[in-house]
Amino acid sequence: MTQYVIIGDGISGSSAAETLREADPEAGITVVTDEGEPLYNRILIKEHAKGKLPEAPISIHDEEWYDERDIELSLNTHVTTVDTDEKVVRTHEGEDLPYDKLLVATGGTPTQLPVENSDADGIHHFWTFQDARRIKESAENSEQAVIVGAGLLGIDFAAVCGAQGVEGSYLMRGDRWWRYALSADGAEIMHEGMRDVGVEPVFDSGVDRFEVDDDGHVTAAVDPNGERYECDWAGVAIGLTFNTEFLRETDVEQDNGIVVDEYMQTTVDDVYAAGDITRFYDVLLGEQAQNGSWGSAKEQGRIAAVNMAADEEKEAFEWVSSYSITHFDFPFLSFGHPTLGDEHAERKYSDTEWRRIAFKDGKIVGGVLIGDLSPQSTLKQLMREQRVVADQAEVLLEKSVDADELAPAQEQ
Ligand SMILES: Cc1cc2nc3c(=O)[nH]c(=O)nc-3n(C[C@H](O)[C@H](O)[C@H](O)COP(=O)(O)OP(=O)(O)OC[C@H]3O[C@@H](n4cnc5c(N)ncnc54)[C@H](O)[C@@H]3O)c2cc1C
Repeated sequence: MTQYVIIGDGISGSSAAETLREADPEAGITVVTDEGEPLYNRILIKEHAKGKLPEAPISIHDEEWYDERDIELSLNTHVTTVDTDEKVVRTHEGEDLPYDKLLVATGGTPTQLPVENSDADGIHHFWTFQDARRIKESAENSEQAVIVGAGLLGIDFAAVCGAQGVEGSYLMRGDRWWRYALSADGAEIMHEGMRDVGVEPVFDSGVDRFEVDDDGHVTAAVDPNGERYECDWAGVAIGLTFNTEFLRETDVEQDNGIVVDEYMQTTVDDVYAAGDITRFYDVLLGEQAQNGSWGSAKEQGRIAAVNMAADEEKEAFEWVSSYSITHFDFPFLSFGHPTLGDEHAERKYSDTEWRRIAFKDGKIVGGVLIGDLSPQSTLKQLMREQRVVADQAEVLLEKSVDADELAPAQEQ
């Protein structure tokens, strides 16, 4: 009987457990998580913090789900070390879990700002359901907040402020939100969306230090220009630190994330990784890449499990990810790797409609759509097909994209 151990019960670990059970009804499967609850929908916790959604619909699996599938679930259990020679996982309680094949699906932990008082009471990071419960409580009882981190997770704090009637100051380091993927035209639409919900973007700013009261609760953020922003709480989303400490005594290669091939196999035999934590070989991009999105993590978990259970035939991870934002009056979608590429094409259609496409070697590798998402399926399909289309950007920037208007695909 093969023994599988999965570290992490997020969407990647959980989808791997489900796939392994389907592939191998006899196997021993153990899932270890340091959270106190089984899989829940991490995407929806922001709706909870916004006060829009009660707890129940956010939970995905209860403990029975694991029982029914004969999957051993260890909650509140932190993995401290892995010995890949002895093939054993050790927990904080000193328990040893032997494995034949191991999946590391531990994602990341939000990075703290390296400034004074960054761990003060009232300074929130946003990753777990517990975080969301705390943010909701703060937001419901407050008037003003500060937000730091001009990316996809930071904007969720802006949405919480909007929904909870909190006046927000969104302190950004550069001249716009998500400057790696958006030009000034695209970002301005997002800034207007923020202003509409009562959050003011502040540019060329950031946090130099936080001020606290006698009880150690945050009272203000001071930016590098000396400007002071009073707040009842602050939301910090400046990136993730990957959870890999337990691999320090192994030869598993890391490069700001765990390096895996397109089969989710690490550099050590019988050790796989999936989800946010991987730096995976992206067959569409033709290089190692990273992705922090729900759909991609789920598919990586499935692929890892298929390959862990396979004798010979392997399945490669080939995926165009999407990440959408629905907080404002207009929709927003990014797909693929919008921050990469060697060439870009973009157009503004109206005050709430904008599109940008990223190309590498003439092929689409990602993009951002604001306002009108209708071209998404055509653009993603062209990315999957790896068609060389950068020289026909005009067709791709038409308000309505018709792939039939493109010159026929050339043999590569
Ligand atoms: C607020 C918020 C909003 C988001 N919105 C979107 C969205 O709209 N669209 C989208 O596509 N994505 C979104 N994401 C990102 C998406 O949720 C993640 O990409 C996805 O959940 C990653 O799944 P994962 O399984 O790789 O990692 P995780 O979900 O992080 O799971 C890893 C698990 O491993 C556990 N763990 C870590 N270390 C250890 C250890 N040593 N021992 C035991 N357990 C350990 C962790 O506690 C955690 O439970 C959002 C994320 C957040 C936080």
